[in-house]
Amino acid sequence: MKTLRDHIAEAENKHTALGHFNIGNIEGLWAIARAAKAVGVPVIIGVSEGERDFLGVRQVRALVTSVAEQLGYPIFLNADHTYSLEKIKEAVDAGFDCVIIDGAKLSFEENVKITKEAVEYARAKNPHVLVEGEIGYIGQSSQLLETIPPGVALDPASLTSPEEAKKFVSLTGIDLLAPAVGNIHGMLKGGDEPSIDVKRVAAIRGEAGIPLVLHGGSGNSDEDFLKAIKAGISIIHINTELRVAFRDAVKKSLQDDPDEVAPYKIMKPAVQAMQKLVEQKLKLFSGLS
Ligand SMILES: [Zn+2]
Repeated sequence: MKTLRDHIAEAENKHTALGHFNIGNIEGLWAIARAAKAVGVPVIIGVSEGERDFLGVRQVRALVTSVAEQLGYPIFLNADHTYSLEKIKEAVDAGFDCVIIDGAKLSFEENVKITKEAVEYARAKNPHVLVEGEIGYIGQSSQLLETIPPGVALDPASLTSPEEAKKFVSLTGIDLLAPAVGNIHGMLKGGDEPSIDVKRVAAIRGEAGIPLVLHGGSGNSDEDFLKAIKAGISIIHINTELRVAFRDAVKKSLQDDPDEVAPYKIMKPAVQAMQKLVEQKLKLFSGLS
């Protein structure tokens, strides 16, 4: 069985990217798993600290393992944005495939310190678990936004610099890096998000020497994604768009049949809407559309 590291290397060789989608319930898990199998590509399921609190850390691990085994399919589990070592340890101990230690809001030195500690813990516990580090602040919420959140790095001087990325990787020993390259978490209500600085992506990939992860993919154009993948992005995170698809489908379902009380009937259109969206994104990321 190939590891997540193998799949990432394979994607990079083929100039494609893996999709990373968050879940907050079993509806999301089935939608993503079925979409990945339909498209024929591996997939990463992400759960933030809040999503883990809601689902249960060990319970979401068991659910993802169970679905992956039943479908006979590579579905990996990532502890998305984790802000403390305690929560990193909890996810590593539960058998997650990947963890993200997010020190992007800390000083460079503090970020290096906590990230290095996360890497040391993960390595000692399980040599296969991948650790992702973050530099450059891109906002924190996967919500619909009125405006770009304050403090988000968007001008060339505040984007992640290739030199800083190189230093960060060598000081921490991370496996994956999430830079700030014009991407933002969440999705602007008015549409039109800033575009990705693909030249910066290519320069960071060259200096960092490890695969790059693009966060905050919701709201970016298809063309932007293709250019970013070509420049060196290996994993793309989509969360807000999936949450919107879920919310809209549940709303419609309740409006269409106000007397329906069976949760699985109310939720069915939401699973279908999320699956459709994930299929579209996976086809795009893997060069099949
Ligand atoms: Zn993110």
